[in-house]
Amino acid sequence: MLVDYFVLSAPAGQREDYNAHIQRNGVLERCDRSLIDAVAEVALTGRGGAHFPVARKWQPVLEAMPTAARLTVVVNAAEGEPSSRKDAEIMRRNPHLVLDGAVALSQSLVTGTYAAADIVVWLHEGDDISLSSIQRAMTERASLDEPPMRVMLAPARYVSGESTSVIRAVQSERRTGKATAFPRFTPDPARPWIQDDADGNPILVHNCETMARIGQIARVGALSYRATSLVTVTTPGGLRVLEVGPDTTFATLLASLGVVTPSAVLLGGYGGQWVEWLRIADLPVDPDALRTHGLSLGAGIIIPLAPDECGLRKTAEIASWMAGQSAKACGPCTFGLPAVAELMEKISHKAKSRDLRELREVCGLIPGRGACRHPDGTVRMVISALEVFAEDLDQHSHKHCLAHPRKHRR
Ligand code: SF4
Repeated sequence: MLVDYFVLSAPAGQREDYNAHIQRNGVLERCDRSLIDAVAEVALTGRGGAHFPVARKWQPVLEAMPTAARLTVVVNAAEGEPSSRKDAEIMRRNPHLVLDGAVALSQSLVTGTYAAADIVVWLHEGDDISLSSIQRAMTERASLDEPPMRVMLAPARYVSGESTSVIRAVQSERRTGKATAFPRFTPDPARPWIQDDADGNPILVHNCETMARIGQIARVGALSYRATSLVTVTTPGGLRVLEVGPDTTFATLLASLGVVTPSAVLLGGYGGQWVEWLRIADLPVDPDALRTHGLSLGAGIIIPLAPDECGLRKTAEIASWMAGQSAKACGPCTFGLPAVAELMEKISHKAKSRDLRELREVCGLIPGRGACRHPDGTVRMVISALEVFAEDLDQHSHKHCLAHPRKHRR
């Protein structure tokens, strides 16, 4: 069987239809529990940002399935962050690999005589290219003996992609016919990717890239699987999505894109952390390797600070955007994030010690108190900025900016 090992196997700008997909990869064989072992063997972690071991996510489902009547598998392709585009690229270029993953996963987990599965693809409203691609893919597979598939559309806001939002939408649609896509407190915060529907049947959510990787593993097996990383890099020419091997360093990656060596990089996106370039330049773009250095690739988002950008200013802009994205259903987002954004804005102009002290205090009160991780991520990003841009803070306290030497002298 001819096999392509890569998630982004279709050339940029092209979509692989079902015929091309099976010509290159062959027909997907029916999967069984051996897929679970294979996923555990390659130590696949979730690519939505948290990098939790995927096979361990399935344990509660396996425990529930002997008595459950249905498993709902959700592909979360609602990429809420403006600096991320990897999931959209997969959906547009290789939609069948994503559906392969969802089908293979359903077949592996649903073994009871009466149990069934259904597949939901969760997408942002307005992402019309991905919508068209995945709908065509579902139509192209309509005659196959596979679980029913459908698309659900999420409001185009950041927190729609939170796994608890996704589950809540499926649950509420089933109960009332209308999907409500806000995050909420989970009965078990340690496992937000799975909950029961109203009838006690499990709903399991995986990020789009994770599902495509499950599809790859189902096809090629653990031995032939290649642990690449999909990243979205912000470049002067716009967002670039690349698939890189574990031997690619950050320096090589940015050089290949013609990005001027930055002073720092925002790693993992708006809810990630700022890292000094010298700390990261020679590290591999690989989640496992980064973890050993206390860093996370998150959802594969890499934002180099441009030479003419001020890290504090950029942080203030992002904090403001994040504050505006919350559902304002919990205290940390209703009161905390607007305060963080306002203080960060002030500090990006003039870093008064009183504002800095207050910012640190507010940031200390927020983590762990919201229904979802949105406020925690924002605070993590802001705190990392205060550390990485400490020299800029010092300059800003005198109304000087290292990136804009004359800008704040007013
Ligand atoms: S923490 Fe914020 S974003 Fe998350 S549910 Fe609460 S208000 Fe909404």
